[in-house]
Amino acid sequence: MTRIVLRLALTILLIPAAIISGVLLGMFVDLSYGRLGEEWVVAGAVTWCCVAYAVGYWLIWRGVVAWTARRKVRTAVTAAIGVCAILVLDAAVALSTVYMHQWVPWIMLINGGTTVTWLIVVSVIWAETPRERAARIASAGSTSTLCPACRYDLAGLSNLRCPECGNEFTLGRFQDEQRRRLTPADLG
Ligand SMILES: [Zn+2]
Repeated sequence: MTRIVLRLALTILLIPAAIISGVLLGMFVDLSYGRLGEEWVVAGAVTWCCVAYAVGYWLIWRGVVAWTARRKVRTAVTAAIGVCAILVLDAAVALSTVYMHQWVPWIMLINGGTTVTWLIVVSVIWAETPRERAARIASAGSTSTLCPACRYDLAGLSNLRCPECGNEFTLGRFQDEQRRRLTPADLG
């Protein structure tokens, strides 16, 4: 559980981190190559923020995703579509506006919107399917009815007295044992 909380905290902290890194990058570029023009610097910094956040999000969450070939392909394909969409839309906006300052808000909207959309899409792609959930519960269930004392399988019995070793358990003790046994594997 704590690992999930840590990942959520990092996902939130990544927002200011990406923005600060974009601002610093923009300032550095602006100071070093002043003739580039403010619009280009802002657009570049915004793009950097979006890419940095998307990469950081993937780094944080890839450890909990059950990576199948299908998931890998879908993640890569949607990332490629996102990059293409950003390039095409940004170029279209840059070419269609007369004054440079007009396209900066559009760049922010396009790049930010595409990134947020990708984050939502991959979150759906990475989510556990009902079949995977059933398989996980079934594999956990195969050890959940074992006697806490001798590990005899108590599945199907109507009381909590083990016919193998004779030990009797309260339901609470039995549940505690199950939880203890399931916790390490369940929260990887
Ligand atoms: Zn037993």
